[in-house]
Amino acid sequence: MNENPFAGRLAAFQKMLKRRKLDVAVVRDQANVRSLTGIDCDNAALVVTPDAVVFHTDFRYIPMVHRTAPWLKVKEIKKLDFKGARIGYESNMTVARFEAMQKTHKKAKFVDIIKDIHNLRAVKTPEEQEKLRRAAALNDEIWAKASSAVKPGMSEKDIARLIKTEMIQRGDGEAFETIVCIGANAAECHHVPDDTVWDGKTPILVDMGVKLDGYCSDMTRNIVPGKASKKYRETYSHVLNANLEAIKALKPGMTAGALDAVARKYLTKHGLGKAFGHSLGHGVGIEIHEAPWAAKKQKMVLKPGMSVTIEPGAYLEGELGVRIEDLVLVTEDGCEVISHSAK
Ligand code: ZN
Ligand code: ZN
Repeated sequence: MNENPFAGRLAAFQKMLKRRKLDVAVVRDQANVRSLTGIDCDNAALVVTPDAVVFHTDFRYIPMVHRTAPWLKVKEIKKLDFKGARIGYESNMTVARFEAMQKTHKKAKFVDIIKDIHNLRAVKTPEEQEKLRRAAALNDEIWAKASSAVKPGMSEKDIARLIKTEMIQRGDGEAFETIVCIGANAAECHHVPDDTVWDGKTPILVDMGVKLDGYCSDMTRNIVPGKASKKYRETYSHVLNANLEAIKALKPGMTAGALDAVARKYLTKHGLGKAFGHSLGHGVGIEIHEAPWAAKKQKMVLKPGMSVTIEPGAYLEGELGVRIEDLVLVTEDGCEVISHSAK
């Protein structure tokens, strides 16, 4: 890596500092630092002014930064030193860290910039989009293999282990803990796989995402045996239609809230409004959940390059649960669905 793959994003970040009249910003969140420099380091502070960038870290990581990012100025984090009347900070930092910063900069005004960084991260670079496509494609391959290996007698834990092993062997492991729900367990959106055994007749819901080259994927599919109940089949077809309607409606320029409303309206019309208790989706990138948030009333405008999941669901406690989730990239005139598994 001879130059910063995120130079464009970093330049936009510096522009934002000027616009918000900030003298300096200190970025400490690991994913945020990575999104501006490409460096994944759990003890870093990126000090950015409108015209300079200094990466601070400790002894253990300095050689790695020199090797992978020779374009970057590096300093010891022990000597973290910056000044300014208006300082940008991330409101997700620990209280202890924030208080320490206030103590050493008594006269400064601290301005929260977390949303600004999240907005910049929401629009993926072409390289990031390609990484998301590759992670989603690997997720499809792992699902194809795992779903055909599922046999009656296996437990939720067995199935989850099967998927996890594939993810470790072929990618960089799980982007989140794989969710496997047999039958009524699927009514719990984030059910933890247990010893429930598959009888070959009840539906199975699997929500999975492999991590590859630092980027996550996220997809939910359901195994629907021939003996699934009529009610399940009806619910499934409504959820699938809500997923397809939202994909069809997605256009750059609409708000994330309006996208959520498309699926919500469809499910409400079919009596499943109350059964759809979560939001429609979220961005996926370095982290599994990031902006944009496709949820009620979210005002963020969808732009080309953003990633977002389309995951409507319907959950009837003690009875059944269905969720169908695809990962999509917003394009100039709609979206590109990058989850290709049959649904
Ligand atoms: Zn998911
Ligand atoms: Zn998701």
